[in-house]
Amino acid sequence: MQVSAIIAAGGRGRRMNSSISKQFLNIKGHPILYYTLKKFEKMDKIKSIVLVTGADDLDYTREEIIKRYKFKKIRLVEGGKERQDSVYNGLRELSPQTDIVVIHDGVRPFVPVNIIEKSITAAAKYKAVGVAVPVKDTIKVVDKNHTIKNTPDRKTLWAMQTPQSFTYDIIMRAYEIAMRDGFYGTDDTVLVERLGLPVKIIEGAYENIKITTPEDIVFAETFISLGYGDYRR
Ligand code: C5P
Repeated sequence: MQVSAIIAAGGRGRRMNSSISKQFLNIKGHPILYYTLKKFEKMDKIKSIVLVTGADDLDYTREEIIKRYKFKKIRLVEGGKERQDSVYNGLRELSPQTDIVVIHDGVRPFVPVNIIEKSITAAAKYKAVGVAVPVKDTIKVVDKNHTIKNTPDRKTLWAMQTPQSFTYDIIMRAYEIAMRDGFYGTDDTVLVERLGLPVKIIEGAYENIKITTPEDIVFAETFISLGYGDYRR
């Protein structure tokens, strides 16, 4: 089985209030993106990694990530305006011989390796799989005046994470149709949902945070100290 990963790291990190893109921020001496990539690089099951970064970050990534840490499986690709554009650029770099595509956010370095493995196995069986966790908070639907419209039953709500894994054919079709329609989603599974195809959820881990806002750095430092950044976890 030919398994490839796409690591989306083409964002500018506007919510981080930092001039450097958040995936390059250092935590305990290493860039966030290094911890993420190391997990995929060390997995025998994954034969190739397409890393997508912004046009302005390509040279820096080549020197400070790929060369510095001697990554062997990575091909670097230029990203686009939205995450979906970046992932689409990554998808078009894959060989059509690919069986399973694992899409992961560069800013989620604490994904447990066994969850990446589970998501690959599940994708071979179910064709489209998202990792998610049950929400802890009560979620409200709110109108533009900040008045609550309704309260969905929490038992039915899951917060999506990555990886999201798919058979090559399904994810290519989903992306091509979304791009043709000008439809932009906030994750990859929604592009498959809109084709009317089932998407399976597998339970992830709460430590698999998306490093997004400044307080996430504090969590991230603690998680690194606990060993969650290690490729064995
Ligand atoms: O924008 P958001 O915080 O949801 O980003 C999730 C992931 O998508 C990040 O790893 C970010 O670098 C990536 N991204 C991308 N291309 C963009 C915007 C975001 O690859 N244009």
